[in-house]
Amino acid sequence: MGSTRTETMAEAGRSLPTIRRAVVKVGSQVLTTADFQLERDVFEALADDVVELRRRGIEVAIVTSGAVAAGIGRLGLTEKPKTIPEKQAVAAVGQLNVLWLYKEVFGTRGLAVGQVLLTRDDLENRRRYQNAKSTLQTLFRMGIVPVINENDTVMVEEIKFGDNDNLSALVTNLVEADCLVILSDIEGLYDRDPKSDPGARLLPRVDAVDETVEAFVGASKSHAGTGGMGTKLLAAKRATHGGAAVVIASGKVPHNLLRVFDGEEVGTFFPPTDDPLTRRKHWIAYTVKTLGRLVIDRGAVQAILGRGKSLLPSGIRRVDGDFDRGDAVSLTDPAGTEIARGLVNYSAEETRRIAGLATWEIADRLGYDWGDEVVHRDDLVVLLSSNGFASKTPTDG
Ligand code: GLU
Repeated sequence: MGSTRTETMAEAGRSLPTIRRAVVKVGSQVLTTADFQLERDVFEALADDVVELRRRGIEVAIVTSGAVAAGIGRLGLTEKPKTIPEKQAVAAVGQLNVLWLYKEVFGTRGLAVGQVLLTRDDLENRRRYQNAKSTLQTLFRMGIVPVINENDTVMVEEIKFGDNDNLSALVTNLVEADCLVILSDIEGLYDRDPKSDPGARLLPRVDAVDETVEAFVGASKSHAGTGGMGTKLLAAKRATHGGAAVVIASGKVPHNLLRVFDGEEVGTFFPPTDDPLTRRKHWIAYTVKTLGRLVIDRGAVQAILGRGKSLLPSGIRRVDGDFDRGDAVSLTDPAGTEIARGLVNYSAEETRRIAGLATWEIADRLGYDWGDEVVHRDDLVVLLSSNGFASKTPTDG
């Protein structure tokens, strides 16, 4: 059965890899009407599709939006809240309604849902990341459908994911899903803005999210949610770099989700990159916030970019910021261009003291050492200027 389905996908030009676990992101505009009421039919159709996917052996986590939008509708507000406390209050109301409806539509189909609310802090910290991961794994194991949203009620600017498109890409990496489906209110990615240009063409397939593709997207904004096509494209880039296939499709057309898995040509398909980042490097590249900057000399730039080496203290010219051992920093060349990101073995203060020294001098200067490398190559991800992060340091193979 599995192989028949794979053939169908290939015939349709959609060589989706074998999917065992998928993340489905559903936008506010899909879940609510223009006057901010929840669309029960959409929830029902979504639940039907998820039940069918699970019957086919595919586990599904839902990343849902709609808390703010549903709160607006429930409270009878005439416009979107402007201040953060207002948004938080409105989301607190709406999140209940959204989850209640998921609970109902899945409940009548014999499935339990579990609510998971995340902040960026939860995923930035490696220990909390592992914690969130094992909770989600357990939900899957118990046959529960995780329904994830940003924890809007405690969000402040510094700990925000920004939008649920980004959240869904990070969750795809977190739960090691092999597919992310972003259900939006438009059909997929167009070569021009379809709202203002009737000649715009839907792109059925995008092999790499590069500058040409990014140029297709104007500053499109969502009516009910936070993102636009730009944030969806960024999410597609991040998820494909982690080894997942991505489809952006309309969630307004009932059962489009199932069509995606039937290999039909709906929306825009982004195949996973051939050479994905490991989960850990993906986390370093896209989830963790950098807390400092190491300006390194030309020799060190060459060693890292050309030969996949670790960063030693001798190559460090300047240390900016305040970070601890284990934190993420950005590595820049002498002109200030970011070339890589990595996790440091030394705090900012220690790094300042050993910058420029030979490795054998570290212990003399500090009275101890944490190893020769300030950033070990295993903890370092090289940045490619136009297209995100390289999957490997150059000598990995
Ligand atoms: N977390 C927000 C909500 O549920 C949505 C954010 C977004 O639309 O990207 O209302």
